[in-house]
Amino acid sequence: MPIIGIDLGTTNSLAAVWREGRAVLIPNAAGSCLTPSAVSIDEDGTVLVGQAARDRLVSCPDRSAASFKRWMGKSRQFHLADRTFTPEELSALVLRRLKEDAEAFLGEPVTEAVISVPAYFAEAQRAATKRAGALAGLRVERLINEPSAAALASRLGHEEDETLLVFDFGGGTLDISIVECFDNVISVIAVSGDDRLGGDDFDLAIAQGFCRENGLDWESVDKSAQAILLRQAEQCKRGLSQAAAVHMSVAGEHLSGSMTLTAPKLLELCAGPFSRLRAPVSRAVGDCGLPLSEISAVVPVGGSCRMPLVRQYLTELLHRPLRDSAGTDTAVALGAAIYAAIKERREELREVVLTDICPFTLGTNIIDWAAPNGRELLSPIISRNSVLPSSKQRRYVTTADGQAKMIFRIYQGEQLYAGDNTLLGQLELPIPRAPKGREGADVRFTYDINGLLEVEATVISTGERHQLLIGRPGGMDEREAQRRLRELSALKLHPRDQEENRALTARIERLFAECAPDLRPFIQQAASRFTAALESQESWKIVRERKEVSAFLDQIDTDPLDRFRDM
Ligand code: AMP
Repeated sequence: MPIIGIDLGTTNSLAAVWREGRAVLIPNAAGSCLTPSAVSIDEDGTVLVGQAARDRLVSCPDRSAASFKRWMGKSRQFHLADRTFTPEELSALVLRRLKEDAEAFLGEPVTEAVISVPAYFAEAQRAATKRAGALAGLRVERLINEPSAAALASRLGHEEDETLLVFDFGGGTLDISIVECFDNVISVIAVSGDDRLGGDDFDLAIAQGFCRENGLDWESVDKSAQAILLRQAEQCKRGLSQAAAVHMSVAGEHLSGSMTLTAPKLLELCAGPFSRLRAPVSRAVGDCGLPLSEISAVVPVGGSCRMPLVRQYLTELLHRPLRDSAGTDTAVALGAAIYAAIKERREELREVVLTDICPFTLGTNIIDWAAPNGRELLSPIISRNSVLPSSKQRRYVTTADGQAKMIFRIYQGEQLYAGDNTLLGQLELPIPRAPKGREGADVRFTYDINGLLEVEATVISTGERHQLLIGRPGGMDEREAQRRLRELSALKLHPRDQEENRALTARIERLFAECAPDLRPFIQQAASRFTAALESQESWKIVRERKEVSAFLDQIDTDPLDRFRDM
């Protein structure tokens, strides 16, 4: 069974698979490789995913959602019609659609995927992505950082050793990675980014600028009018990637106005988002410890890299050529499929090794004796940019006489004070009572490429060991996961092939009525096979049966006697 690679994007999602020695994109039912990451519930309760859902963002904003990837792993809820969804449940619906498209394309079940995530995604967001996969019926043992995937795809055809800067700028996030490619080993050596900066911010700045120019107040414009303005702004922004000027105009009862968008105007309106591009780039270059001259090329990835102003900005800032041979939109999905093939140990890729780094610091709390207010500090154990898998140990001693336990809170983040970072878990270790500083524990963090963090604390004097695992794919409570899985499965998904299935059933019925009586048992047999496939709800079975039954019916329609004489 093939493992597919999935680029689960903020705006669009894509799937790809390794076939005949190369990564190929998987088309969806509409024949496009880009499936909008949008979900909508229509008036009869059917869940729409993809372009149809995106189209409804304007007409039915209260029943539709998009850009939910921005909220992965956070406590935000989305209300669609009378239902409530978490961002991972909405992502699961998109993943389920991609899985079905892949099954239809490959003609066999697909149960495993490698999913790409922004390198900057923290532990909770990674765990949420894996849960989304599980909810969609996909085993997700490996995640791949999006820039690593892009580098992997951009490397094909380049044998030389080199260092690449991957600038991944999508709808909702900016990820920068410095990737070293040496002797077929691809290693991310520094990452940085901004998980709140993307093309959507440009759309918002343009829409707000439009309101200012036309005497409208963005805040008091209602939700559906805001959606119209954002959509228009996005279209104009795209248009400006091909033309010198674009006219934005809206004419409604309560909302009307116009504005001409040019490159200088875009620069003026979007000064805010533009100014936020520089810091993550310099942080990544600074962190990797290499001079800029060592970077051979910049790989622009993500829809926002289509903006000429962004490309111009990159060239002026870094003085390096742009390499987009794998496509700004498709590089990540193709790279994820290559990584899936590496996981499958495909012969052609046996030589390629991908290493990754930890995009954030992992540590525990220690007492700051100098602080009068007793705030705890973060004691880093695995530092940001450590090569994964990483296993590091530090020793901690008791801070009070007769202390009976040590409490290790596990944090992720770069802040000085422990409490300002994200709390991942807590481990309590009973300790023999002794004067302060005489007892203690060795704390080991082991973090792997799949986002699994193992914390082990061992009492120095007795060797007693306690362990905590953080970031297991099934992160949420097992019963809760099962319950949500059942609820999601019960949702009436819009059958991608409904029309084709209805057409085939109608054809079976027509031929049954028209044909000679001795052919009827054969048609009945075909009809029951097809019904069984429909009832299984397995899209790959439906597609296979539909193909076979159609071929069989074609023969009856043309030359029925010949067909059955052979049987
Ligand atoms: P992604 O998340 O990589 O699919 O990127 C989506 C973002 O890219 C959205 O903000 C789009 O508006 C933006 N985008 C896509 N195509 C273009 C284009 N031709 N010009 C400017 N922005 C674009």
